[in-house]
Amino acid sequence: MTVFTDAAPGEQFALSGTEPGFDRLHGIPTVALGEESDRLLALGHLTDRAVLAVTSAYHRRIIGELIVPSHELNDLIAFGTHRVHIRAVRAQPDEDDCPWYVDDAASSHPTAQAATVIHCEWLEREEIRAASACPACTRISRSVKFGPGDAGWASYHRCQHCAHRWLPPVTPLPQRSALTQTLEALSCTRSA
Ligand SMILES: [Zn+2]
Repeated sequence: MTVFTDAAPGEQFALSGTEPGFDRLHGIPTVALGEESDRLLALGHLTDRAVLAVTSAYHRRIIGELIVPSHELNDLIAFGTHRVHIRAVRAQPDEDDCPWYVDDAASSHPTAQAATVIHCEWLEREEIRAASACPACTRISRSVKFGPGDAGWASYHRCQHCAHRWLPPVTPLPQRSALTQTLEALSCTRSA
């Protein structure tokens, strides 16, 4: 089958994991889908273990967030993970932010590709910040979570040891906007 770079607009091509938007996470080509990057599309039918590894790596490396334990995380494999078959199509120029999109395909179709769709929008996450020492017991925290606290609703560090909550030191985070821009550039708005 045709590769992305040779495909005409509207033509189906074989996804190799090197197309615009893909990252390699634990060796598995993965791309975020949706305007809010609410789903991950990984090539192949992943094992449960690989689903968790890819989801964690995507949040940590690409958007700088930690996945934290939650009911939603417990349900990620059973309810949030779908092993499907897809066909990839090169988009019309200027039609989409992303130069390609995927449609569902019958598994019996000769050009269908196996893929795993991971719905990650409901997962509890904490933003990764510079390390900060707990004012009460000096343990280090790198993650923050938005919630109520002494200074109102804000992103607080929470000590794993003594449960003390404190505001992160005020530091400029110029890389934050660059990360956001990169994420937006990587997001494919057509649904799987
Ligand atoms: Zn503490």
